[in-house]
Parts: sequence; structure tokens; C-alpha cells
Amino acid sequence: MMKEVSIPNRIIMTPGPVEVDPRVLRAMSMPILGQYDPVFRGLMGEVSELLKIPFETKNTHTFAIDGTSRSGLEAAMLGLIEERDRVLIPAFGRFAYLWAELAERAGADIKMIEKEWGGTFEPSEVIAAIKEYQPKVLAMVHGETSTGQMQELKEIGRYCQENDVLFIVDAVATFASTPVKVDEWGIDIAVGGTQKGLSVPSGMSTITYNERVEKILTSRYQKELGLDPKVRNKRFIKSNYLDLSQIQRYWSAEGINHHTEATSMIYAIHEGLRLVQAEGLTDRYARHKLNEQAMVTGLKAMGLSIFGDPATKLPTVTCIEVPEGVDEAALRSTLLSNFGVEIAGSFGSLAGKAWRIGNMGYSSRKENVLLTLAALEASLLVNGAQINKGEGVLAAMKVYQEN
Ligand SMILES: *Cc1c(COP(=O)(O)O)cnc(C)c1O
Repeated sequence: MMKEVSIPNRIIMTPGPVEVDPRVLRAMSMPILGQYDPVFRGLMGEVSELLKIPFETKNTHTFAIDGTSRSGLEAAMLGLIEERDRVLIPAFGRFAYLWAELAERAGADIKMIEKEWGGTFEPSEVIAAIKEYQPKVLAMVHGETSTGQMQELKEIGRYCQENDVLFIVDAVATFASTPVKVDEWGIDIAVGGTQKGLSVPSGMSTITYNERVEKILTSRYQKELGLDPKVRNKRFIKSNYLDLSQIQRYWSAEGINHHTEATSMIYAIHEGLRLVQAEGLTDRYARHKLNEQAMVTGLKAMGLSIFGDPATKLPTVTCIEVPEGVDEAALRSTLLSNFGVEIAGSFGSLAGKAWRIGNMGYSSRKENVLLTLAALEASLLVNGAQINKGEGVLAAMKVYQEN
């Protein structure tokens, strides 16, 4: 007979999935409701309203999509792109290439500009590329999880709004942990996740978009397209599951049937967002910044080097250079098997050369930071690293005492 699942306790300090607040887990254990039960429709309406808080938006269309964070990215791309539309994608890390793949699959012509990993773009560089390439859509990543860097968006967004370019942003790594000011920054579509800053399990994405986008979606809605196969073939959104024009109607008061909503995930997101509201954005962002500061100070006191430009560092991910002679994967395995602490490696040119420590949502707590530093020090020593002994935790504790 198979045994009942038994899950070990972990301290999850990766860039996602992260630990989930017990109150969210409790909400998920509530009974299932039918998808048109008025109580459930009421919860969906509240989720839609609550989502406007971390997105800092007045957009009417703010909801959640079934599927992990990339479902929102893919739905955004499919909703805007018709065959041969131009998309400009500035890349300063791995997730820009996800945008590129989604744009290509949607039938776009793509132009990429690339930055060496460890930095971000000057707004003027992106604006110059827009002028040259004249794209319909500019797709950017806000927080680049692969390198621990965060792109400044405000100036770029303003240019897009004034010049009829649609600006779509992957805010998965910053949503609900670092400011994402959708309206102020001129973002047409912003996509967030659940398993990172919001600290809800993986399985849905969050999205908000404005009236410019709604107009395009409405013009591509099945009923608007009529029955002429030539028009339909050309303009139809190329996915049913990720058709924003239909998902929008499912979430609206009309409640036109589309998919069967992921009931327990809606409870989880509702509770996750309620906790965001209760903590308040200012305090929530300050908590992440303080824990980041303690972590970075502790790592530096140990003698480790932080990868990338400190001026544009992403508060939710700290990317550390692996010291000479240390096996990147072996260190992570020592940490996990002895301390139950999980951190991440990286990708591409950083594979085997960097660790990434997450600082997101419910995982972003003082005790997690201090335990991770202590466990990391011992694990580094066991794996033959030359570091300053006994300094990391104390330096981090000092940051907490002073703040
Ligand atoms: C995690 C992440 C994603 C992908 O999320 P999934 O939930 O795995 O689909 C996309 N973009 C960024 C910036 C991320 O950090």
C-alpha cells in the first residue's frame, strides 16, 4: 500500500516557489463551490478588486488566469499579436527570451536588443530602439530573476503611451513584493505570478490591462469577427484556453462560460491578497528591502561577491558569485540535506557560476535570513570555500538591530 504523502519542513529561499502563509493553506482546505455559486462569483469579484492594490491600477480588467505565471505572458502576447506584427524585446537576462519565444509562436516579427548580464537598459537605449524599429508592442521584464537585476520602466512607459506603442511587462518576480506602478508607469498589460511575492502556490497568473488593450481584444472577440473565414483565420486569437477576450468575459458580471475556475486557487489568491492589503504595500515593500539589506550585508561580511550592478539590484533576488574551487550544485545539496534550506543555481552564462537567494513573500522573514546565512557559512566551509568565519550572521543581526 502506498503511504500517505509526508512533506518535510523546508526553508525555501529560492526565486519561487516560496513558502506559503499557513492562512493561505488553510483557505485552500475549504470545501469546493460550484463556479456559478453566487458566493464563489462574489469571491472572484473581490479577487479582481484586491488585485488592483499591488498592481496600483484603476484598470477595470484585472483578474487571474489558470496556468503558471507564463500563462499570463502567453495570453498577453496572443491577445495583441496578429501575423507579422512587430515586437521589440530588450533582453538583460533569461526571461526576455521567454517573451521572444511567445511572440514568435504568436506569429510576430521580432527584434531583440541585448545587454550583457548583470546590468539593465538606460531608458534612452530602449527609446532609440523603438524609434528605429517602430514596433507595435514593446515587451520587457521588470525583475529579471536569472541575474537579480531590475529594469527602470517609467520613462519607457511614458514614451510608449505618447507614441502609440503597446507596453507589456513581465512583473512576475516583483509583483506583491516590490512596487509595480501600472498606471503611473504607463504599462498597457502587466503580468504577475502567484508563487513568488504573493506567496500562494504555483498554478495561476495575475494580469491587468487598460482600455487600449480591451479595444484590441474586443475587435478579436469571436462574435465581433463574424463568419467570413478569411477574417476569422486572420484575426482569431490563436488559443482558446488563453484567449483574453473570452477570459475577460468569464470574469466580468456577464459571467460568460469559458473554463472551469480553479476553485481552491481562487481561495488561496483571495487570502494572499487579503494579507497584502492587511500588511499594506509600504510596510510589505519595506520588509522585503530590510531583509534584502540584511542578507546582502551578511553575505558580504562572509567575503562573498554579489553579482551585477548594485544600483539596479532586484530586491527579491540576490545573485552570488560561486567562490573559486567550490562546486555550485554540491553546496546546494549540503544546504538542503543538512539544514532543509533551499537556494537556487542560475542559467545560461551563469550556470554553475552563481547562486540565487530569493527574498519573496512569506519566505522573506528575519529568521529565514539569519538561518540561511548560518547554514550557508557552514555549508561553504564543508565544501572547501575560503570565507570569513563567524561574521555573516552577526553583520546581518546588526542590520536588524539598527532598523
Ligand atoms: C518565475 C518567472 C516566470 C515564469 O513563471 P512560471 O510560473 O514558471 O511560468 C516568468 N518571468 C519571470 C521574471 C519569473 O521570475
